[in-house]
Amino acid sequence: MKKLIIGRPILSLGLLVFLLSIVACAVNPVTGKKELSFISEEQEIAMGKQSDPQIVQMYGLYENQTLQNFINAKGQEMAKISHRPNLQYEFKILDSPVVNAFALPGGFIYFTRGILAHFNNEAEFAGVLGHEIGHVTARHSVQQQTKATLGQVVFIGGLIVSPTFRAMAQEGQQFMQLLFLKYGRDDESQSDELGVQYSTAIGYDAHHMANFFNTLNDMRAGTSAESLPTFLSTHPDPADRYQKVNAMANDIQKDIDASKLQVNRESYLRMIDGLIYGEDPQQGYVENSTFYHPSMRFQFPIPQNWQTVNTPSQVQMAPKDGKAAMILTLTEAANLQAAAQQTAEQYSLTVVEQKEISLNGMNVLAMVSDQANEQSGQTVRILTYFISYNNMIFTFHGLTDKASFDTYVPSFNQTMRHFTRLTDQSKINKKPDRISIQKVSRAGTLQSILQSYRVNSDRMREHALINGMDLKDQVAAGTMIKVITQ
Ligand SMILES: [Zn+2]
Repeated sequence: MKKLIIGRPILSLGLLVFLLSIVACAVNPVTGKKELSFISEEQEIAMGKQSDPQIVQMYGLYENQTLQNFINAKGQEMAKISHRPNLQYEFKILDSPVVNAFALPGGFIYFTRGILAHFNNEAEFAGVLGHEIGHVTARHSVQQQTKATLGQVVFIGGLIVSPTFRAMAQEGQQFMQLLFLKYGRDDESQSDELGVQYSTAIGYDAHHMANFFNTLNDMRAGTSAESLPTFLSTHPDPADRYQKVNAMANDIQKDIDASKLQVNRESYLRMIDGLIYGEDPQQGYVENSTFYHPSMRFQFPIPQNWQTVNTPSQVQMAPKDGKAAMILTLTEAANLQAAAQQTAEQYSLTVVEQKEISLNGMNVLAMVSDQANEQSGQTVRILTYFISYNNMIFTFHGLTDKASFDTYVPSFNQTMRHFTRLTDQSKINKKPDRISIQKVSRAGTLQSILQSYRVNSDRMREHALINGMDLKDQVAAGTMIKVITQ
């Protein structure tokens, strides 16, 4: 959870439907062919401009001037040699551990800090950059737009016992993750081709773009669906793409002096030295059944055996059977009464009772309400605490079907009534993991070298993956490697 407002849909569906209803004939910048274009360039740019602030608000930008300068420089250089050099491109780093990169229409390109941690040289980065710029220049139409946030799904779906919610509660992060932008297989292949073309044109060896698909493939092999990174779920079949991209790289290098192409491993690794890796505890973490939020300075207990998902816009908790849920968000409302009223209106809630109470020195409005689900005929009952704390209003919902409400109300109360100020400095100062770049002093297998850096055995595989190597690979003295440290 970050200090931001409860999620809205990332792209305005209304706008999108409107734009899609306008059909014009235009020349595709990449193919040079005339085609039916659903939107004009101005509309495309408008879509990007409208959605960009929402993405930035939702995920936050990762502040790192060196990396930002590098991405801008390479991005602008590539934009100039692309099929659409006249667009105003913007390149941003999102503060998310998920491995992803994506583009919005009109020239907005995003990399997560998670994907930057997984690249091992500039050439891999340049290949993915080219792929994303390719989606923009070839005007690929986005087939799937948005997923609503979990909160909306839960409320609109109306029933927490639904399979949808259960899946979300279990699969956690992945569902909340980045977008969402899914292109067709042909569009993906074309973007791969453009990635090879563009990254070669700015001087990089595109074989490394293929190598990165291998890293993605290893990631897929070793992870459960639960932690499957989004780049994989929106970009199918990396094994197949490895072959194809490699063949394209071979092809394109026949006509040029390939010895001049760059990889730039060391310069890239130096840039990501110190990069935050994985979840950032400052944005909230769970320890011994307590949720701590250091930057917003609050904590609360989580019921035993409930699972927690912390996203930029909310914290969700649910038992494994998915029969109840608690959701903590922030509201924009000016006061407790307004927050209650807006929530009731937004989700069509029938208020059963409400009262103001004082809790751990905070003003709280407690409300019980019902939401009828016309489709299933069932009613969801919701206990909500609107909590005024540090000039913010938190909304803490506990929901379940009406018949089960009495069963779950003690758990809801136990959690919500212990929402309190976080003062324990050891919890406030919890440090994130970071990528540390180390120069290997003695040759050996990656495994033996990692052992010499005291890497835990349960994190060996992860280290091999982020280094793009196997544990058995021989590493020469003087090689730079990534080690995860605090
Ligand atoms: Zn793509």
